[in-house]
Amino acid sequence: MPSRPKPRTGADTRDPGAALLAKLGIRTQFDLVLHLPLRYEDETTLTPIARAREGAPVQIEGEVVACDVAYRPRRRLVVKLADASGVCVMRFLNFYPSQQKALAPGVRVRAFGEVRAASFGGEMVHPRYRVLRGPEPLPEALTPVYPTTAGLTQHALRRRIEAALDAADLSDTLPQAIRARLGLAGFAESARLLHHPQPDTDAAGLRDRTHPAWRRIKFDELLGQQLSMRAHYRARSRAAAPVLAAGELTGRLRAGLPFELTRAQARAWGEIERDLGRAHPMHRLLQGDVGSGKTVVAALAVLRAVESDRQAAVMAPTEILSEQHYRKFAQWLAPLGVRVAWLAGGQKKAERRRIAAEIAAGAVPVAIGTHALFQEGVAFRDLALAVVDEQHRFGVHQRLALREKGEADGALPHQLMMSATPIPRTLAMSYYADLDVSVIDELPPGRTPVVTKLVADSRRDEMIARIRAACTEGRQAYWVCPLIEESEALELKTAIETHARLSAELAGLVVGLVHGRLAPAEKAAVMDAFAAGRVQVLVATTVIEVGVDVPNASLMVIEHAERFGLAQLHQLRGRVGRGAQASVCILLYQRPLSDGARRRLRVVFETTDGFRIAHEDLQLRGPGEVLGARQSGVPLLRFADLARDEPLLRAARAAADELLERDPDAAARHMQRWMGGRTDLLKA
Ligand code: ADP
Ligand code: MG
Repeated sequence: MPSRPKPRTGADTRDPGAALLAKLGIRTQFDLVLHLPLRYEDETTLTPIARAREGAPVQIEGEVVACDVAYRPRRRLVVKLADASGVCVMRFLNFYPSQQKALAPGVRVRAFGEVRAASFGGEMVHPRYRVLRGPEPLPEALTPVYPTTAGLTQHALRRRIEAALDAADLSDTLPQAIRARLGLAGFAESARLLHHPQPDTDAAGLRDRTHPAWRRIKFDELLGQQLSMRAHYRARSRAAAPVLAAGELTGRLRAGLPFELTRAQARAWGEIERDLGRAHPMHRLLQGDVGSGKTVVAALAVLRAVESDRQAAVMAPTEILSEQHYRKFAQWLAPLGVRVAWLAGGQKKAERRRIAAEIAAGAVPVAIGTHALFQEGVAFRDLALAVVDEQHRFGVHQRLALREKGEADGALPHQLMMSATPIPRTLAMSYYADLDVSVIDELPPGRTPVVTKLVADSRRDEMIARIRAACTEGRQAYWVCPLIEESEALELKTAIETHARLSAELAGLVVGLVHGRLAPAEKAAVMDAFAAGRVQVLVATTVIEVGVDVPNASLMVIEHAERFGLAQLHQLRGRVGRGAQASVCILLYQRPLSDGARRRLRVVFETTDGFRIAHEDLQLRGPGEVLGARQSGVPLLRFADLARDEPLLRAARAAADELLERDPDAAARHMQRWMGGRTDLLKA
């Protein structure tokens, strides 16, 4: 953290607790302030033993009247505690001899736990307790229970948080006017309240985070995120980028296409064209459901770079997809005299070196590939545009690396990211707030919607007959093998076995197999044969999940569909329904279904609307998973919940604008407090 003062760093290395705190993501005083309780325990009152009811934790205090080790049915320590109203037993199954000593008759003890009825009256099993040495006042506030980690006691954590609440700067970053207008509580009082609520605080509000103190913390978090997104957006729009002006190639491509762009495609291209003509880097997400025709829009953008005498790169997450793009681009661009190179991980060294040299010399203006594009020794002469297909499949570091290839004399390349995964509204307003977005919201004409069927796998034989019938009529089919997340080897084995079995069951038809372990040339050969219709049934692992485009394939069977995620099923299904004939996607499932699996299958069955699926996916998996959290580089929200806090998010967005406009100092202070040094990766 750039802002961390030196002395603390020194202290940390001597402080054995620092490593434990780091495990909890706590590095600064302010992190401690924001380490909020999971729940509270009420130790502010004592309950007379006779009045303790079952089911709710209580605090009792009394004198030990007996302390014995009992041996049946198991060895245990039995301590009888009496107050004026009655007697309660504390029972410990694991105990130290020292405990037995400390709980000698006559000692006063305060214990906290749930009382349950036992044959001889009430008992507490393993209560938290403290031996009282003298009169000890009861606390005035509820006792916080914090998330912690092995080796760090609640007591130690509380002490540190206490100290941080005293030491950290909790002054308000929000001007009074904004607070008043939005009805927001003060920051310091909110933080203090959440650590130490008074016993009469609205318990439900604390629990479900609707209490005004929670509202303030969540607002601040959302505001921090909005401000940093905005800051990045501004920084980027001030950076320099090559101006790409219109030439004749883009017009010639459009004129030569066998179809007209849809209205949505034309609109998206218009937005991209405008961005590329500016001297600042484009940072745009092109979003369109599977099959909406993003590739041709990308091709136009690529040609815009070429007609300005610059280079463009297209990066795809899988070799199969990158090769397919290579073919498609070559088919479109070769007639215009534009060379296209393909770089993939599995190519021969010498070949890669030759291609890389051509790219470096600027002899080839368009390079297409997987992440191999930005690995070892690939340099561009003047990369002006980086297209990233299925962007959510890439880590932020990979996107950064590609961008860096084009960094020259302080100028950045334009970036076009493409995704078939629609972004739910609240995600778009938060995590993607620094992106411009173009949406292709219509499919090319003449598509028949895919019919989805849910079929128990006991009816597998019928599906085989169905495939045979479809192929006899000249159509083609995919058979998607089960996902086996735990073991790639097992997944491969299953794919090979499935291929063997289907080849036997579908004797007379040509059955191909494609999976991630094939050499690139083998993969290409199978995909080619399938695209050309020489292979009728393609048995595949999820390598075909994204991008594969074979319009004549109109039937897909997904085995063990219950194992796949929602987005995955939607993507897979998007491989069919690309031609004019009616397509069918059969989801074979095996019982028993978990609740989650049942819900996923129902959603995919009920809708082909990518937005609805994305929304459900967000509900089911949460933003972390949907964003590909571990690699997205975006600090996730800890307190705000996008599903429930949309109004707060909107308010934070408006406040971010207002602050930046009227009180940039407050904005900077707020951002520093909340984002600290954690925002560097957002720049990708
Ligand atoms: P995605 O958006 O899923 O990447 P693709 O770019 O692969 O979709 O396009 C799907 C198919 O639709 C391709 O075969 C493509 O050639 C075709 N296509 C794209 N645009 C149009 C259009 N305007 N009219 C007809 N077909 C189109
Ligand atoms: Mg695509």
